Amino acid sequence: GDGPWQQKLRAQFPIITAHPELAYLDSAATSQKPQAVLDAVQTYLTTSNANAGRGTYPWANRTTELIERARERVKEFLGDREPDRSTVHFTSGTTEGLRTVARDWLVEHLTDGDEILVPFADHRANLEPWLEARRLLAERGTEVRVRALPYQEVSGDYDHRALADAVGPRTRFVAATHVHHVYGGDMNVHRLRAAVGPDVPICLDAAQSVGHLPVKVGDPALDVDFVVFSGHKALALPGTGAVWARNTRGPALVPSGWQGTPNTVGVVSLLAALDWLDAVGVDRVAAHVTRLATRLTDRLRGLDAYEVLGCPASLAADSALPAAQRRHGIVTFRHRGIPSDDLGFVLFSHGFMVRADSLCQAGADDKAGSVRVSLHVYNTDEEIDRLLTVLASLA
Ligand code: PMP
Repeated sequence: GDGPWQQKLRAQFPIITAHPELAYLDSAATSQKPQAVLDAVQTYLTTSNANAGRGTYPWANRTTELIERARERVKEFLGDREPDRSTVHFTSGTTEGLRTVARDWLVEHLTDGDEILVPFADHRANLEPWLEARRLLAERGTEVRVRALPYQEVSGDYDHRALADAVGPRTRFVAATHVHHVYGGDMNVHRLRAAVGPDVPICLDAAQSVGHLPVKVGDPALDVDFVVFSGHKALALPGTGAVWARNTRGPALVPSGWQGTPNTVGVVSLLAALDWLDAVGVDRVAAHVTRLATRLTDRLRGLDAYEVLGCPASLAADSALPAAQRRHGIVTFRHRGIPSDDLGFVLFSHGFMVRADSLCQAGADDKAGSVRVSLHVYNTDEEIDRLLTVLASLA
């Protein structure tokens, strides 16, 4: 069961406790916010709201301090052991973060004939910026080649054997995903690094991992150069996100965006969210959602009417992670007879809020669609069991 630990945490989410008849199962789209985050925002707005600026008056100074503290907090949260060699840039989310890396860093670093590896079966936000970078370069007369980072639905990971063939002497950059937003599997970044060698920058779309499981860039197994994530999926306010850049394989990232008033309230909320998550223990959050997702997956597999996408039982036998941790808090499935949007409506009539469409997946078959259940610390065994009862009644 969930136990008192989880019940105490769930009670800290006002929107969840206010609606006991509903079950929010769409945290991969955006997360709910704990009282501590709401309080931090309220305190900031009622004590020191101002534009950032140094040395003029206390509210402005306080705002500047909070933003700087949030930058340091992101580094700490990501286990950065060399904070003097990295930078943190705030964005509105992962989409803007990836675009920033593409436009403000990548295009400055490639020369004619260079190759980049990008994912073609992950979130569209992690494909379009790289294709745009190629277009921008072509306008300047620099031709670069984009090659597919091969994904293997069977293992729930990149195809590391095919990857070896895709990597060549001109490979200069890799865009990858940490946790897949449809299949919920963990990409083995350590093997990706081994395949591309020590010098090629890797940019990680960590939208579904930061705030959900430990993401530690100081760990040699996570030797990446950019970690891009959404604050709003990690318990902070909508319109928040960040890019962490290691800045050791090439010049520092200097973003051209956000030259006006920053989203100070958003940054304050991110600071509070990371504090809250660290106090709770992201590893415990991960264990909780993995347990619920595994329960849902195992039971759905017993119902012939449903097909669970990706991450099958054989999931990444060669993954670095223990089996129990390989599926994160995301389960995507189809009913063999009921279209996904209809199933979404039926589920909401029973109080379940799920995602039901093509899930922004690059190259996805839009007509088929699917239903995604995605979890966070506030979800319970009871919600999963209630959902399974409804799903079983439709089987
Ligand atoms: N990448 C992945 C893997 C995602 O799951 C999402 C959000 N669904 C995004 C990028 C886009 O994030 P945002 O909406 O914060 O820009």
